[in-house]
Amino acid sequence: MNITAYDSAIHNCRFCFMCRHLSAIGNVRFTEVDTPRVRAAMLYGLGTGTNSFDDDDFVEALYRQDLSACCVRHCVNHFDENGLALAARADVVEAGKAPEAVKALAAELAKTSVWKAAGNGDVAWFQDATTATDKAAVAAAKKLFAAAKASPKVITGGCIGKALKVLGFLPEAKAAAEKFADFLKDEGVKTLVVSNPAAYDALTKDYTDFGVKLPCKVLHITQWILGAKLKFAKAAGEVYPLADDFLRNYDNIDAPEKLLKAIKAEARPFGTNDEETYCCGEGAIVLDKLHPELVEALAKYVAARADNAKKDTLAVGSVFTKRALVKAGLKAVTFEELAAACL
Ligand code: SF4
Repeated sequence: MNITAYDSAIHNCRFCFMCRHLSAIGNVRFTEVDTPRVRAAMLYGLGTGTNSFDDDDFVEALYRQDLSACCVRHCVNHFDENGLALAARADVVEAGKAPEAVKALAAELAKTSVWKAAGNGDVAWFQDATTATDKAAVAAAKKLFAAAKASPKVITGGCIGKALKVLGFLPEAKAAAEKFADFLKDEGVKTLVVSNPAAYDALTKDYTDFGVKLPCKVLHITQWILGAKLKFAKAAGEVYPLADDFLRNYDNIDAPEKLLKAIKAEARPFGTNDEETYCCGEGAIVLDKLHPELVEALAKYVAARADNAKKDTLAVGSVFTKRALVKAGLKAVTFEELAAACL
């Protein structure tokens, strides 16, 4: 089973409640089952025969997780309860026990793995399906490219494997990754700029795990902006940056913080601590499709922690998070929107 690679997390987390306050779903459902300790205990039960994937409640709990990786980041020993959860989902799928809604969503996602390219050159920008839904984020990226006198090839299209992997469909995720890598090779892409932090994580980590070789260098758009050495005429002013699940917890990149300094943002601390996630389930990629009510609850949890929910500008890494927060009445912009407004 995939979870055997995470034995250390199973054995240590099942007795530990240290990171329960970082369990975003547990914080909005007020349920112990949505904490790393209880999930690990339930997965331990698979080995002792006291639990099985025939238990629908157990499987549902696995598909409810926000997958922010905050617990791994802040665990003193960094036990990978997040990797354990992803491995458990893969085991559920391999056992043929995925919920019908999950199977249907995976089948839909697999169909979207086709892409188009417009423009010339060996530098490309991946305008993924989520980012493409947000006109302001797209316009901001275009404004930044224009300011740098860059006209990247624009790649649009669907799932590059990340959502399939997160749902536990590993062969399908790998097939999508191979197909996207071939597409980039055929297009002669040497540098790929991505707006979506989930896409950045997929391309820089998942593809390596799958053994899929990319023909290009991958940059998150915040890294690209810094490298472009743009001149910013205006200062961003007061802003509440929310650490991104992927950029901080999964990939540990500091480009967003450096960008905020470059645009002279007066960064204010948000909420009661800088450990938990305020990304509304971004790490779970498609939580809004499986459990929109949970994404809404997570956004309300964030709104309740704002100093001034109507006025404060929250800077976020992804359109996924922005969309959830805006629906909850908050003023949220992506890092690239903030940067573009300072040109
Ligand atoms: S991740 Fe670390 S802090 Fe969290 S339950 Fe596991 S051992 Fe405890």
